[in-house]
Amino acid sequence: MQQPQGVDRKFIVIGGGPAGLTAAYELTRHGHQPLVFEKMDKVGGIARTEKYKGFYFDMGGHRFFTKSAEVKRIWQEVLGEEFLRRPRLSRIYYDQKFFYYPLRPLNALLNLGLVESVLIILSYLRWQLFPYRQEETFEQWVTNRFGQRLFQTFFETYTEKVWGIPCSELKAEWAAQRIKNLSLKSALVSMFIRPGQKITSLIEEFDYPRQGPGMMWQTVRERVEQAGGRIQLNTDVVGICRDGNRLTGIMVASNGHVETVGGTDFISSMPVTEFIKRLEPPPPPEVQAAAAKLRYRDFLTVCLIINQPTLFPDNWIYVHEPGVKVGRIQNFKNWSPHMVPTLDKTSLGLEYFCNEGDDLWTMPDEALVELGKREIEKIGLARAADVEDGCVFRVPKSYPVYDGDYRHYLETIKSYLASLENFQTVGRNGLHRYNNQDHAMLTGLLAVRNALFGEENNLWVVNAEEEYHEEIYGQVEAEDAVEVMQEALSHVFTKLDPLAFGSAVGLAVGLVLFLATLFLVMKGGPVVGPNLQLLRHYFPGYQVTAPGSLLGFLYGLVIGFTSGWSYAFLRNMTMLFYLAVIQRKAELGILRKFLDYM
Ligand SMILES: Cc1cc2nc3c(=O)[nH]c(=O)nc-3n(C[C@H](O)[C@H](O)[C@H](O)COP(=O)(O)OP(=O)(O)OC[C@H]3O[C@@H](n4cnc5c(N)ncnc54)[C@H](O)[C@@H]3O)c2cc1C
Repeated sequence: MQQPQGVDRKFIVIGGGPAGLTAAYELTRHGHQPLVFEKMDKVGGIARTEKYKGFYFDMGGHRFFTKSAEVKRIWQEVLGEEFLRRPRLSRIYYDQKFFYYPLRPLNALLNLGLVESVLIILSYLRWQLFPYRQEETFEQWVTNRFGQRLFQTFFETYTEKVWGIPCSELKAEWAAQRIKNLSLKSALVSMFIRPGQKITSLIEEFDYPRQGPGMMWQTVRERVEQAGGRIQLNTDVVGICRDGNRLTGIMVASNGHVETVGGTDFISSMPVTEFIKRLEPPPPPEVQAAAAKLRYRDFLTVCLIINQPTLFPDNWIYVHEPGVKVGRIQNFKNWSPHMVPTLDKTSLGLEYFCNEGDDLWTMPDEALVELGKREIEKIGLARAADVEDGCVFRVPKSYPVYDGDYRHYLETIKSYLASLENFQTVGRNGLHRYNNQDHAMLTGLLAVRNALFGEENNLWVVNAEEEYHEEIYGQVEAEDAVEVMQEALSHVFTKLDPLAFGSAVGLAVGLVLFLATLFLVMKGGPVVGPNLQLLRHYFPGYQVTAPGSLLGFLYGLVIGFTSGWSYAFLRNMTMLFYLAVIQRKAELGILRKFLDYM
């Protein structure tokens, strides 16, 4: 790379969400004054907080949790005392009843009734005995672990609402990938290291800024500006100027007029597909075609202000009720009491998952508020007459979709972008990866280190290869302990080789019998070896004589081999069974948290 090394470098950052702002923040820490361009009227991106008539609305409900020490440091540095530690309650609303989530067996049994519960258990047993042979779809993956009936009750409707496609078309890979690292480890830790103690996890409590996640990003914005950086809102990056393998500037549109801004280094958190579309001159046709194939899922929040002090105690509720379109309901006062101007009222966020341009997305705001009022009454959480006001916020490209060939298309885009010398793409949509705030931030942070210090951090694998950032950032103790535990388990559970073990035992038993017989023959006496002689009742032809010692050796060999082989075989099978039970328990543990990741 041939960028100038001094502070005369001009960094351009596209997007004022968590990734872009973290990059800008880190740049200012090293004496640079980046220019950030954000197309919206506020910072925070998907993690912004909207405000309406004194009420704060979080788009999606953002819990702050991370394993990264770097991210924790920034959060503390920026907001410190402004963080609240909040208890978590989130339930599933189905069939006019509340089910605890993660599921609690007794609560589920009482709500479902005896007959339905028995049917669920029978279905579970049936799928344990005769599972799908291949687990290609999400439906197959969950059914094999929970049974079809439970899948239909607790997973199907919600997952289809979120993704807008049948579970039979959703790849199992998506479930498996989200589930793999996190939970197998924590389940093992809880089982072996601290059996009596629950791991503090997103399950019980989380951190939350007093006035929502936007508070974090607004404060970062102020810090960047205090350090001489500039954050230009309401400015859409409409073109990216390229000269061979280097970017030279960007074209920005603001207040109806377009200008070109030059720079030496570029970090972008805008959707990678849009970045490709805006490159001038355009990249090769196959790269453009790949960008056109990547898809997103969008959502909108219908915010209702309700003239009631309390409605329900949950932070949020998953709505599995098939008769309504709403997918999840946030109760912002339960995230933080500072989200409402008065505790006499309650503000809800009704989340509708949709596709940009579809019927829901294009429905006028007033109609959406009316829909929200109808649905909240239909499911019995509040009376429509108590809703005193409402508004709507749309969040485009909130979920990068992992469908059929997305990996292939992403690879094409990745290889092309690698050829651009002074450019890095970061963040959730910049990398088309299902990153939470912390991972989005890490990519911004690492991009700056690559640019400033010549580090070669691969941003595409942050949150893809757990070991990668374990190496870089160090991990929570428990995770290290898991590595050790897994290592130890692999020793304890080392497979015994039945052939080798049987042969060793056979040889040992044969030799003992051979030597014992010879010893007694040599010792002599009126009756030679009366006790050992009894063996002839079991070993035909055996006698305590010199030739008998050879036969004894053969008998010992055969009996020893058979016992040794059987022991090794049975031990291996028991261990295998035990490991399978552990694995299954771990998977179920992960599935318990599954809805949190949508
Ligand atoms: C429903 C939901 C719930 C979530 N819950 C959590 C949670 O509990 N905890 C958590 O940590 N994370 C959560 N997340 C994820 C979190 O929102 C994202 O990880 C984070 O916002 C990603 O940050 P980013 O900067 O990469 O992208 P974004 O937030 O998308 O920011 C990108 C920015 O670029 C701007 N931009 C795009 N195009 C242009 C352009 N042409 N010109 C100028 N600017 C442009 C956008 O306006 C945006 O501000 C949730 C997400 C969703 C959808």
